[in-house]
Amino acid sequence: MFVATIAGASFGGLATALQLQRRGVVPFSVLDASDGPPTAQVGAHAVGLWTNAWWVLDALGVGERARECCRCRADVFRVGDMGSELADGRWVRRAFAAPAEHEFRRVRSGDVMQAMRDALTGASIEYGGRIEDRLDEIGRRSGEPTLVVGADGADSFVRRQLLRRDATPRYAGYVAHRGIARIPWRAPNMSDSPSTAALDAPGCVTLLLGRGDGTRIGVQRMDDERVFWFGCENVHQSQLDTLPSPLERMASLTAAPSRLSSSMRAAVQQLLQATPSEDASTARCRDLFPPVFQGICPARNVLAALVGDAAHPCTPNLSQGVGLALEDGYALANLLSNAYAARRRSAADLAVVLRAYQRQRARRVATVMLRSRLVGAALQMELPPPLVALRNRLAIPLALRPQSFVSHARLPIPAQ
Ligand SMILES: Cc1cc2nc3c(=O)[nH]c(=O)nc-3n(C[C@H](O)[C@H](O)[C@H](O)COP(=O)(O)OP(=O)(O)OC[C@H]3O[C@@H](n4cnc5c(N)ncnc54)[C@H](O)[C@@H]3O)c2cc1C
Repeated sequence: MFVATIAGASFGGLATALQLQRRGVVPFSVLDASDGPPTAQVGAHAVGLWTNAWWVLDALGVGERARECCRCRADVFRVGDMGSELADGRWVRRAFAAPAEHEFRRVRSGDVMQAMRDALTGASIEYGGRIEDRLDEIGRRSGEPTLVVGADGADSFVRRQLLRRDATPRYAGYVAHRGIARIPWRAPNMSDSPSTAALDAPGCVTLLLGRGDGTRIGVQRMDDERVFWFGCENVHQSQLDTLPSPLERMASLTAAPSRLSSSMRAAVQQLLQATPSEDASTARCRDLFPPVFQGICPARNVLAALVGDAAHPCTPNLSQGVGLALEDGYALANLLSNAYAARRRSAADLAVVLRAYQRQRARRVATVMLRSRLVGAALQMELPPPLVALRNRLAIPLALRPQSFVSHARLPIPAQ
């Protein structure tokens, strides 16, 4: 009989817990190092969730509740090109319709986690509990094999135990400033410039590509009240600690007249002015390759599985970190429950399950991580003007063709 201790009550940990609860056979507990649940109002962490993420949230019974927090449907992608804006304020855009079967919404992570926590009725989350303080106790338990599910994020303690070394994620060389502006939706007006219209099209993602200076900006309306924005820029590691506030930095990035048309600059300024400072933040973009899914914590002889960022911190270029974390948790919980229900409950059985989990997830996760790394490298590359035009007008539209671009949003895991 094995029991599972889930360390981390964010997307990966909650998905594991909810699916274990739904299957109802494996005993589990959940702890999290933070003082309490993140409230929906704190932090500027709006995340884009693709079809695969929504599929898992639906399977966990919380999809509709999460959708209520961001009522709009994404159906159009537009790739704008900062370098091809025309003097009279019009700017060249390429509009793509995403395949109809896909869904891409941006929602506050706090809202999704709240929906997941509310659905977790079979176990309470122990806040203030750090897994490093529990491993000895878990290792000493006798009579029953125990499993630690490391869902403790990109700087995972459990991962360090498995690898027996300091496996710090790799800094990708750029940061992301992001924020949520309060701008009520209004019906489009014929006299709107494309820049302003983009702010009001629900779900539409506008991507402005820099002129080879390692910058890009993205904008997406979240719902009737809120618009999400981000700006990525290359920053040398040595300068990370001295960055100005995200709002200041975005203002100076977009101030130069040569960068944006006057209408787009006005639109970005409107966004920044409508963003409360507590809803703006800056994060380093990082990843760690190859992913690590399972192993034994050597000192305590405890079996462990990793889910989400603990297994594979990923750059945010495809908006797939949460989707992968949800998929991991759902897949692991199903494999554990299947084994348990078939009375395969020994430590040896558990080790077999963990290897199956690794086989099921490794290829999928590595593919998404590498694609995300490549997309980031291409978009952040500093280039001379002729090559920028080639990249922005030819390579990016080809690479971001919806048919190929959204293939990462297909769900590769069995339903149960
Ligand atoms: C700039 C940026 C933009 C992003 N945009 C998107 C996006 O648009 N779409 C998307 O899908 N993803 C996005 N991501 C990625 C996404 O945020 C992560 O992939 C996701 O949060 C991972 O979830 P998780 O559950 O694995 O870990 P986390 O969300 O990091 O949660 C880890 C949890 O573990 C707890 N914990 C930590 N240490 C311990 C410990 N020692 N013991 C117990 N508990 C512990 C923490 O308190 C926390 O609750 C973005 C990331 C960045 C940096």
